[in-house]
Amino acid sequence: MYDIAIIGGGPAGVSAAINAKLLNKNFIWLGGVSVSKKVVLAEKIKNYPGLPDISGENFGTALKAHTESMGIELTEKVVTGIYDTGGKYTLLAGDSEYEAKTVILCIGAVNEKPIEGENEFIGRGVSYCATCDGFAYKGKTIGVLCADKRFEHEVEYLCSLAEKVYVMPMYKNCGVKAENCEIILKKPHKISGRLRVESIAFDAGEIKADGIFILRNAVAADTLLHGLKTEKGHIISDKLCATNISGVFAAGDCTGRPYQYIKAAGEGNVAVHSAIDYLAKL
Ligand SMILES: Cc1cc2nc3c(=O)[nH]c(=O)nc-3n(C[C@H](O)[C@H](O)[C@H](O)COP(=O)(O)OP(=O)(O)OC[C@H]3O[C@@H](n4cnc5c(N)ncnc54)[C@H](O)[C@@H]3O)c2cc1C
Repeated sequence: MYDIAIIGGGPAGVSAAINAKLLNKNFIWLGGVSVSKKVVLAEKIKNYPGLPDISGENFGTALKAHTESMGIELTEKVVTGIYDTGGKYTLLAGDSEYEAKTVILCIGAVNEKPIEGENEFIGRGVSYCATCDGFAYKGKTIGVLCADKRFEHEVEYLCSLAEKVYVMPMYKNCGVKAENCEIILKKPHKISGRLRVESIAFDAGEIKADGIFILRNAVAADTLLHGLKTEKGHIISDKLCATNISGVFAAGDCTGRPYQYIKAAGEGNVAVHSAIDYLAKL
């Protein structure tokens, strides 16, 4: 079991990982992508102390080089669920599970709102992990919301199990090819059913389905961890980065505005110190 699980590969997560390493902690660092897209996108960064004119791309390269030089590895996986399993947290990421005594959420500002019905049907037809839950849909009809091309191999795996797969790609040029797959170029807006998922609705029309897989780069904080208090999509945390759940800390854009590199990096540092104080009291 790890002392700390850090989730997110942006400046907050990088800062948390660097400080956890410097403080000799046993930690795992999980992130959807190796360098946050938000870092790479900035044309010029003018407000990061000591780096007056750096491009986002060079900043991203520098962050990566910093962690690599310290032997810190990012486990490139999207965490889809965090569960309090009695004095520890169990994290689900793809077909892997990790256990940690504390969790630091550095997941950025998640803009995507859950689809209506998504939270209600988690575990009853809504899944975030093809490899974990795909087998349950052998011979059935499913929908797959695919937010990124890099999840296409998971969609193809689902096509090999299910009888019919409706793929809803959120990008152009979906490359999924399978005889039983039908591409729908619309965003689903409602998931409905009685005890389990039965249908997925679009602005116009709906499809009957036994389940829906939602393959996104990020998961809303309160979907990731039930009971986590949020306000307008941001995790409520105090100055020590503590959330309402003991042993769970949050840093960076996910805690609210201003959305800035320096705030994210600063909070990543604070969160690690708070996690270590918490571990000392256990
Ligand atoms: C175009 C643009 C220009 C900007 N310019 C500036 C600027 O000049 N100066 C400035 O200070 N700020 C700037 N910003 C803001 C800055 O990018 C953010 O404040 C900063 O990246 C926040 O860092 P973070 O670590 O909190 O989150 P992010 O950088 O968003 O990183 C979060 C990471 O967590 C990962 N993640 C999320 N959920 C999960 C999950 N469930 N499992 C695994 N991984 C997950 C995401 O994939 C992502 O990589 C800019 C932003 C943009 C978009």
